[in-house]
Amino acid sequence: MAIYLDHNATSPMHPEVADAMMPFLQNPTGNPSSLHSYGRMARSAIESARAEVANLLSCSSEAITFTSGGTEANNMLLKGYVDRSSERAIVSSEIEHPSILEPLRQLQEDGRKVIRLKSDHDGQIDLDAARKVFSEIDPQLLSVIYANNETGVIQPIEALAAMVDRDSCLVHSDATQAVGKIPVDMSQLDIDAISFSAHKLRGPQGVGALVVNRKPKHVLISGGYQENRRRGGTENVAGIVGLGKAAQIAGLEMEHKKHHLEQLRDVFESRLATIPGSVVFGQRAQRLPNTTYFALPYYHGETLLMELDRAGFALSSGSACHSAVTEPSHVLSAMGVEDSLALNAIRVSFGMENSLQDVEAFVAKLVELVNKLPAVMRQAAG
Ligand code: PMP
Repeated sequence: MAIYLDHNATSPMHPEVADAMMPFLQNPTGNPSSLHSYGRMARSAIESARAEVANLLSCSSEAITFTSGGTEANNMLLKGYVDRSSERAIVSSEIEHPSILEPLRQLQEDGRKVIRLKSDHDGQIDLDAARKVFSEIDPQLLSVIYANNETGVIQPIEALAAMVDRDSCLVHSDATQAVGKIPVDMSQLDIDAISFSAHKLRGPQGVGALVVNRKPKHVLISGGYQENRRRGGTENVAGIVGLGKAAQIAGLEMEHKKHHLEQLRDVFESRLATIPGSVVFGQRAQRLPNTTYFALPYYHGETLLMELDRAGFALSSGSACHSAVTEPSHVLSAMGVEDSLALNAIRVSFGMENSLQDVEAFVAKLVELVNKLPAVMRQAAG
């Protein structure tokens, strides 16, 4: 079995999550909208899961709409909460996930004004540049990623929220990489909405949620009264139950997880620093505890990825969501990283099942690969 170091792409399900889901996969499960006992059982399981999610995020249960994942939640927010009759702008950033960038592009094509805030060299949205933007415009929606999926850099979402008129501008954050890794407390955070996905926090794939305490202007998926009329279609009962269990576990293990992941990442980065010319992107910024986005100057990311895959290590080059594309990552380009270095980028994202032995084995493999390169190449880079 390969050593799995790609938890930002997806994290293996916690065994207790699979156990919790099993009865809803194996036994007859009613349609949660049915009034008979099977239906009521399914409904009650969904509402218990909603309460677990509300507990993890310190939000009200009514604010939670279950979706098929982070992509749908982001689409639901951007397509459902924008006032299409208004001229007021939508503000986001250059370092968003494609599930924000693509709907933004569509909104722009439809005639909406869209502004993308810039990143600084450390991978954090540039607050000075943002201040200038907000001194000139009065947006209707602000949507900024909570922690970037490639760099792991945590964004100054509250500082940005403080720059807009909170009575008339909805503030949303794509918190898909943050929920379950760091505390995301909606009762403390001064923002209106977040999106997230179960499979990033040891839950199943294909389920997530949009959390927002307002009614949409447009319903993205219509044709049923489910989810308080906000999202039609029979609910993914087993998936939602899995998400509820994953949320409960994430709350319980949060502190221990942070400590474990930080230890793995810090040991990894200290070893990596001994490889000449290695670069860690966004290292000076506040980051998720589990993510290191790095490059070795002599190895193309895809080539290194394949060498590592052959050697039994599973990672991503850039973001997994567009790994078929060999263009440099848009996040690194926004950070001002040159294409030649950006194309070498590799992302390590640790998870709870990883150990210090995994880190040592991984570093030993990297060193072995680098040592196989011609000396002249290594000297030029170092
Ligand atoms: N946003 C971010 C920041 C992500 O990392 C991802 C997953 N790569 C998504 C959204 C999409 O989530 P999902 O896979 O559940 O659609």
